[in-house]
Amino acid sequence: MRQSQLFTKTQKFAPKDEQAKNAQLLIRAGYIHKEMAGAYSLLPLGQRSVEKIKQIVREEMNALGANELIMTGLQRRDLWDRTGRWDDDAVDVWFKSSLKNGREVGFGWSHEEPIGDMMQSHINSFRDLPVYVYQFQTKLRNELRAKSGIMRGREFVMKDMYSFSANAAQHDAFYNACIDAYKRVFDRLGIGEDTFVTFADGGAFTAFSHEFQTVCEAGEDVIYINRERGIAINEEVLTEETLTELNVTRDELEEVRTAETGNIFNFGTEKAESIGLSFTDENGKSIPVHMGSYGIGITRLLGVLVEKLADEEGIVLPENVAPYKVHLIDIEAADQAEDIYLALLEKGMDVMWDDRDLRPGAKFADSDLIGIPWRIVVSKRSLEAGGVEITSRRTKESEIVSKDDAISKMLAL
Ligand code: ATP
Ligand code: MG
Repeated sequence: MRQSQLFTKTQKFAPKDEQAKNAQLLIRAGYIHKEMAGAYSLLPLGQRSVEKIKQIVREEMNALGANELIMTGLQRRDLWDRTGRWDDDAVDVWFKSSLKNGREVGFGWSHEEPIGDMMQSHINSFRDLPVYVYQFQTKLRNELRAKSGIMRGREFVMKDMYSFSANAAQHDAFYNACIDAYKRVFDRLGIGEDTFVTFADGGAFTAFSHEFQTVCEAGEDVIYINRERGIAINEEVLTEETLTELNVTRDELEEVRTAETGNIFNFGTEKAESIGLSFTDENGKSIPVHMGSYGIGITRLLGVLVEKLADEEGIVLPENVAPYKVHLIDIEAADQAEDIYLALLEKGMDVMWDDRDLRPGAKFADSDLIGIPWRIVVSKRSLEAGGVEITSRRTKESEIVSKDDAISKMLAL
């Protein structure tokens, strides 16, 4: 990408009404545009980072044997009536509308009911099970408060996966495999150590569900953890009963503020019973399917990474999430820079070249704010010193290396 072709401009200040650090920085750096509270557009840089997070999640979900699909965002009222979740008293985040003929529709805040209903066309016998499907979907939720930037949007990107199993054993095997897959996702994003599989409210179907809670000052949750024993409990289920069940005492637990980055849920057979999703078992008997749902907040994750890694100068992102890996900056050395740019491009490297006619200070300030992990500066001075200057955005350490070494170093990332 030649930066002269990138339409977004960096901003000195974030909009006055924006309180969240993640959104302030992402707006200033040109990753997102704030449309209104809780609604942000993804601009080219933000879109690229979101796609990179999605790709990591996609690889891990595919490895579980899950199929990717995309459900429509428009939902029928009758599906949600079946499970008693159309009512605003049951679900307080609905956006609803109606068709010209008066028929009511909801905008998808989740897809358990529609996906369970759809599966009636595809699941008939025990031979059809298990089935795992997932999507990256733009969810719409009329959240009461939207003060956490992209960590709580009224529109946001979620990965939601659903499992359909023949029995509890089949369900549990996938549930546990999914916990491991989620751990790999968080490891790959560099927040594995800070993300805890947390006991949380299981709702009507099961004693507990599991949340993936990532330590983050800007998060809205509080959990209690014991790092050595790998125990984490959401404050909403921190009762004597839970402590006894997990064989831990209150003073062995440390309180931390977190953001829920993922969430997995066992519905047993109750969800399928109310939807009407059943299959014929080995004995020809019709029995309800075991269902589970598994979410990851894709755009929330970008917000969490920005909150956790940013420094005084701006955004810092991991190499596999940043919109580009290399930010090439030339100071009156366009020919030399173009050589490096083309060499990196040819090898498929994600590189952005700041080829704009700007003062060096302005280029560096933009580069710091945007937070691409590696910076290569080509200038008269660097060439005299023997080549180009490579700087890590995160550690700020830099070195002068030859042009060729710079290229091979970046390709080895
Ligand atoms: P929360 O308690 O934060 O409202 P939730 O329990 O409503 O989350 P789910 O319905 O399980 O969340 O959604 C799955 C995942 O989607 C969550 O774990 C979270 O990472 C993400 N998520 C939920 N609501 C939002 C939102 N308003 N904006 C961005 N991400 C969200
Ligand atoms: Mg919620």
